[in-house]
Amino acid sequence: MSMNKKKKDKELLPWGETISLTFRMFRFLAGRMPKYLIFETLYNVWGALTPYVGIYISALIIDELAAGAERERLYTLVIIALVSAAVISAVSALLRRLRDTESCNLYMQCYSIYTEKMLRLDFADADSERAKALLSKIIESQNSSGRGLPSLVDSYISIVQRACSLFGGVALSVSLFMTPVPEGAGTLTILNSPVFTVLLLALLLAVTFISPILGTKASSYWARAISDANLGNRLWGHFGFLPFDKSFAEEIRIYNLIDLCESFTKDKTTLFMSAGPLASYAKGPAGALSAASSAVSVLSTGFVYAYVCLKSLGGAFGVGAVTQYVSAVTMLAGNVRGIMSAIGSIHVNATFLKNIDELLNYKDTMRIGHEHLEPLDAKDYEIEFRGVSFKYPGADEYALKDVNIKFGRGERLAVVGRNGSGKTTFIKLLCRLYDPTEGVILLNGRDIRKYDYDEYLERFSVVFQDFSLPMMRLGQVVASGEEYNEKAARECLTLAGFGERLDTLGDGLETYIYTGYDETGVDVSGGEAQKIAIACSLYKNSPFIVLDEPTAALDPLAEAEIYESFNELVDGKTSVYISHRLSSCRFCGDIAVFDGGRLAERGSHDELLSLNAKYAELWNAQAQYYEGE
Ligand code: ADP
Repeated sequence: MSMNKKKKDKELLPWGETISLTFRMFRFLAGRMPKYLIFETLYNVWGALTPYVGIYISALIIDELAAGAERERLYTLVIIALVSAAVISAVSALLRRLRDTESCNLYMQCYSIYTEKMLRLDFADADSERAKALLSKIIESQNSSGRGLPSLVDSYISIVQRACSLFGGVALSVSLFMTPVPEGAGTLTILNSPVFTVLLLALLLAVTFISPILGTKASSYWARAISDANLGNRLWGHFGFLPFDKSFAEEIRIYNLIDLCESFTKDKTTLFMSAGPLASYAKGPAGALSAASSAVSVLSTGFVYAYVCLKSLGGAFGVGAVTQYVSAVTMLAGNVRGIMSAIGSIHVNATFLKNIDELLNYKDTMRIGHEHLEPLDAKDYEIEFRGVSFKYPGADEYALKDVNIKFGRGERLAVVGRNGSGKTTFIKLLCRLYDPTEGVILLNGRDIRKYDYDEYLERFSVVFQDFSLPMMRLGQVVASGEEYNEKAARECLTLAGFGERLDTLGDGLETYIYTGYDETGVDVSGGEAQKIAIACSLYKNSPFIVLDEPTAALDPLAEAEIYESFNELVDGKTSVYISHRLSSCRFCGDIAVFDGGRLAERGSHDELLSLNAKYAELWNAQAQYYEGE
């Protein structure tokens, strides 16, 4: 039994960890949304306490009526009742309005917590499977069941509300236990014995505790199913939305992927379907526990009715008080149950908060240096890789091995090599997306880790092979920001070969790129997108410009245009140019040849050909395509 219990409880965090995690995350959320939590608390405290004002005044009015009261006093009480009811409703409506204006922010705030963190993660972490898996678990749990930060807020509200109502319930039910059955009532006087009071309270407490415990056990199945549910959400997110994804529309038709796409929704045994594992939890233990939880909670009402009715039968109070006592005690028990449930929910939710906590705790390891660099427009930057080796996190093999290379000061360096030879990795290290595993990279003789990270990145304009353009206005895309200098953006687009196309756009630089955001936007071809990406790198006007396969998606004419204007494009900056097409590297005086992660050769086109080694091998393999160029 103990083995089994241990296995089941493993899904929930220990209480100590649950409590510290919950408090820490609540404090964090309160720091982000103080106004919302204040209004939410005020609204709920007000809502929980004010009903007792009405009950109290009504009781006074009934007492006055029963005692044949004076009209004056009765009128005053009625007016107080009406005015207080009006004030209570008005304040309640005001607080609700204030709460609602802030609460619509809750999900956005949660998203912005995750996006802010993802945007500032070290590239190596952002690129890691662990961070991606964490983020997808967090978003999926939040979207599918509100687990995580929204559930934390729900539990808090529930506890505040229930705790306030609890006081009201206690105040209204104290007299039930204090009023004795009159002596002449025969056997029913036995109810005056404190044993009965203790017995009733014990029964109530037992039921009150058992019900939420069963409920929490039922919902703990969701914590247990977290990885199944996340996988299901991911599959659903992929297959469920394939039919709406424009980029798959051709493949779906040409390769007849319809059956494959529909298999996820038609197969009843998949995760979210009626014969899937999640449904079996719902039909089996989780469903049974939920039902038991509800049934047990109804039992408590039965005990209360029996006790109150018997006391009334014995003459302890009039029939009129029966309803008041039954509702007061039921309310009391309901509130204790509600608090217990909220605590149970906090326990289940801690598993989800742990993912958020892990994501938020990723450390920034790149921003360690504080030295300043030469001004942006300085051109005398020199880079040196000294004995640099690099392994991707978790990889066994080196992607770069003992690379020694020096370049800069307006030089044009071409980097060539077969696929997987380490060219892009070389660029990623140069731009400090990763730090070397061994060796050091120097800028003007200083280790680049000593420089301010953001300042260092400012020095690079890079067009990566797998670049992406955001769905913004063309001018904003080029400037990578909301504001842009029209003249400069136009010049960069023209230099990058997009000038003629720009003239055809009705809204010019104000045209939206792609139609996803604005239907009047334009879809651009791969080649056009590449030109825009090149224009972005020019607009940034950094001393280093890195082009990773910049012409792969361009047609031969456009490619020729880019080469012709290359001098103008790089304008005395230090440029690094990666290409598979060796013919396109000839114009760079300096060519570095990578092979198996090592810098194999370096020199001009003619020098490298005369070596008759790696470069010559690559050149000869491609030579047939260049004939006539
Ligand atoms: P190239 O740009 O010359 O095609 P890369 O620099 O992209 O080569 O890759 C060099 C080596 O590093 C290859 O063996 C590749 O599989 C590996 N590699 C590239 N990116 C990653 C990554 N994110 N994680 C692990 N290994 C990688």
